[in-house]
Amino acid sequence: MNRNGKKIVIIGGGIAGLSAAVYALKCGYEVEVLEMHDMAGGLAMSWRRGPYTFETCLHWLIGSKPGGEFNRIWKELVDLDKLTFVNPHEFVRIETEDGDSLRMYTNADMLEAELMRRAPDDIAAIQDFIHAIRALGKFRLLDPSGGLADNWLNLLRDIPVLPLLNKLGKMSGAEYGARFADPLLRGFFSTGDMGKLTAIAMVLSLAWMNEQDAGYCIGGSQALIRLFGEKIAELGGTVRFNARVERIVVEQDRAIGVELHGGAAIPADWVISAADGHATIYEMLGGRYVDDTVRKIYAGSETFASYLQVSLGIAEDLCGEPAMLTRILGSPILVDPGTELKSVGFRFFHFDPTLAPRGKTAVTSILPTRNFEYWDRLRREAPLHYRAEKSRVADAVIDVLERRLPGVREAIEVTDVSTPATVIRYTGNWKGSQEGWLMPPGAGMKPFPNTLPKLDRFYLIGQWIMPGGGLPSGPMTARPAIKAICKRDHVPFEIRQEVQLLASSR
Ligand SMILES: Cc1cc2nc3c(=O)[nH]c(=O)nc-3n(C[C@H](O)[C@H](O)[C@H](O)COP(=O)(O)OP(=O)(O)OC[C@H]3O[C@@H](n4cnc5c(N)ncnc54)[C@H](O)[C@@H]3O)c2cc1C
Repeated sequence: MNRNGKKIVIIGGGIAGLSAAVYALKCGYEVEVLEMHDMAGGLAMSWRRGPYTFETCLHWLIGSKPGGEFNRIWKELVDLDKLTFVNPHEFVRIETEDGDSLRMYTNADMLEAELMRRAPDDIAAIQDFIHAIRALGKFRLLDPSGGLADNWLNLLRDIPVLPLLNKLGKMSGAEYGARFADPLLRGFFSTGDMGKLTAIAMVLSLAWMNEQDAGYCIGGSQALIRLFGEKIAELGGTVRFNARVERIVVEQDRAIGVELHGGAAIPADWVISAADGHATIYEMLGGRYVDDTVRKIYAGSETFASYLQVSLGIAEDLCGEPAMLTRILGSPILVDPGTELKSVGFRFFHFDPTLAPRGKTAVTSILPTRNFEYWDRLRREAPLHYRAEKSRVADAVIDVLERRLPGVREAIEVTDVSTPATVIRYTGNWKGSQEGWLMPPGAGMKPFPNTLPKLDRFYLIGQWIMPGGGLPSGPMTARPAIKAICKRDHVPFEIRQEVQLLASSR
């Protein structure tokens, strides 16, 4: 690889930092990624307990379909064809504890038939919904690093769906759900953060699932992260673990490197932060580079909730269960002071044989909470109480599962509970947020600024500048940052796809 003599330091080895590393290496930069944890991935994480692996992040990966628009972007970075994707035909099953149930299929024809069977009174709203799923399957994401010249073809293709996008973009999930009289269907759109997000988020996700372009990769999010690690090593980059950045070193309003916990200084020509935006701006940079736009974002925008994850290793083959199950509870469970949940979701990972031995199943339950302070304080100040609280919540979740699958309690051989304190400790994400900023109705799909006022040679990337977050926010924010750096350095930004590189080297 030709080196261009310049070095980029990247703070954070999540999907955004790793994406930036690959783009920068391909453009000839020397790259060092500094990651405070002892492994890469950030929120794209799983962990092993006994014979089970518990996945936290991956439900669906946009761009899983070969030939699709976002697939092309992933293939600029890694050889995505090395992954095996599965597309469960049922996205989620929603059940009440008294036996009512709704199946949300990923296939639009099956979904339409199911909804018409269940809720014939909602015929007009159902037809509208299914039409939106089919129509938005054609929607092409625009390249945020490109101008009109790079995007004109996609813009042209998107023209027919723009009025629909515009309409959905102004509505929250809860407002969209209110069109349905059926309580389970209404609840699907309006529960938790989904109800606050623009309706585009869920309809577009279902549209991509219908196109089989939002699959789950075997091995979970770490299978994708591993491809990035291999690619960075192959291109000669470095990912340094247990390297927590304390300070971004600035000289005359120009980022010139970073200082690690322990005092080591690492000089660089450019600094990119792919870490939590709040910590970057207000701690690593001491709050010196903020203006009204930055202040408004951090004081006025709402983050996704944090979460507890109850993970269960169950010595039973649960392949008869749906991949995802939401149980609407007869009486709510108390997660922490201020957080009562009226429903609990389960993921049965029977479709991924790498996560549990044959005949056994890894099961997880994500419990959203905004009371991150409670868990953070408890962990630091009252570790025994913290442990007791984790057990109490795990028991409550197991009770819900036991009512669904009588006898399952006896088959549970591993129980693991992570909390918002875990998310903060391992990823540094502000308020333990699971995905950065919510994308509220009316906000559009535009990212936040990726530079800070008056600070030169510095970029922000990742979920904290792309409301809605998700793994695609990694490449989508890394690409424009590296492209801009290349432009400043008069370095060509020419990125070929991995598959093409492999094909031509054979
Ligand atoms: C429960 C859950 C389910 C999800 N489901 C999906 C899904 O199905 N599909 C999807 O696309 N997305 C999903 N997401 C969202 C997705 O995981 C995130 O949006 C994405 O991984 C964020 O990537 P990032 O690189 O921007 O940030 P992060 O993953 O947070 O990475 C930031 C990195 O910076 C490091 N860091 C922080 N501070 C420092 C410092 N001072 N020094 C050095 N390193 C530092 C952290 O350790 C971390 O590794 C889910 C997330 C969660 C939690």
